[in-house]
Amino acid sequence: MNRSLSFRPARLALLALAVATSPAFATEAPKPKAPDMPPFEVVKPFATDNSWYGRFGVTNCSWIDTGDGVLVIDTGATALDAKNIKDEIARTTKNKPIRWIAMTHLHSDSNDGFSSFLPTDATIFVNARATGALAGAIAGGTGKAPTVVGVSDRVALLAGKRAFEIGAPFGNAHTAYDLYVFDTPTRTLYTGDLVTTDRCPMLSDPDSDLKGWIAVLERLDSLGAQALVPSRGNPTPGAAAEIEKTRRYLKSMLAFLTEKKKQNAPEARVTGELASEKLGDYCPRELNAINALSVYRRILNDGTTVPGSAASVPAAK
Ligand SMILES: [Zn+2]
Repeated sequence: MNRSLSFRPARLALLALAVATSPAFATEAPKPKAPDMPPFEVVKPFATDNSWYGRFGVTNCSWIDTGDGVLVIDTGATALDAKNIKDEIARTTKNKPIRWIAMTHLHSDSNDGFSSFLPTDATIFVNARATGALAGAIAGGTGKAPTVVGVSDRVALLAGKRAFEIGAPFGNAHTAYDLYVFDTPTRTLYTGDLVTTDRCPMLSDPDSDLKGWIAVLERLDSLGAQALVPSRGNPTPGAAAEIEKTRRYLKSMLAFLTEKKKQNAPEARVTGELASEKLGDYCPRELNAINALSVYRRILNDGTTVPGSAASVPAAK
């Protein structure tokens, strides 16, 4: 059953606030810049043809000129981000039309800019479970509604002359609505927040699920990507190594929390003992504690988690 009937801006804004104010992300907040510098930066990830990513705030958004039109991956956090993305797409592709939009998930920092892309003739790709949420956002807009494709496993997209795989986890992972895009010709993998290079994987979404996340990492690994572009952190040619770092962290957290749950350990003991654990490459103590408690309150003895959004998120207006 789809529990999301519309966009939940209050929840998304809260999540964005948690990201923006958490200590690890403070290090990636834009440094003060000279007034004449733009509030974003746009570059090509590697030596890829016709692909760009831009860092708008803390989040990367990407686009690919397929020849006949542009595939956009994530729409930014705000209307201003969305405007900047569209301007940069027009500049870098010489005004090619946006014909496809893929949303890696619905966290505010990645896709609250979506409504600023409406109305659009583009086809929208989202996790199949997000179509209900998206319908609310589209219904509130004016003009022609776009076609929305809900992905429940994987689809092959021939966009222009370029082949992509767009896939979704079978269950919850970073969120309930994750999606990845694999650019087949360049073997570039756009992971959203499923893999965040040099950044702590975040488990604070009420629907985050360790086992589901670990499972989708297996699939990402099997793609044989030669480059990885995350929502947060720098693109890297070391896709396999980054996937492995994330997997190692999640497996360590799963083992630790499952053991504590079997012991029926109080939360204070969980965070206390966690402080002496080395679970990952990137996670400072504060974020480890946020991650651990968020999952510990929902985890069962077998390591599965009870989705928390239905209980903890106010009903959408
Ligand atoms: Zn996220």
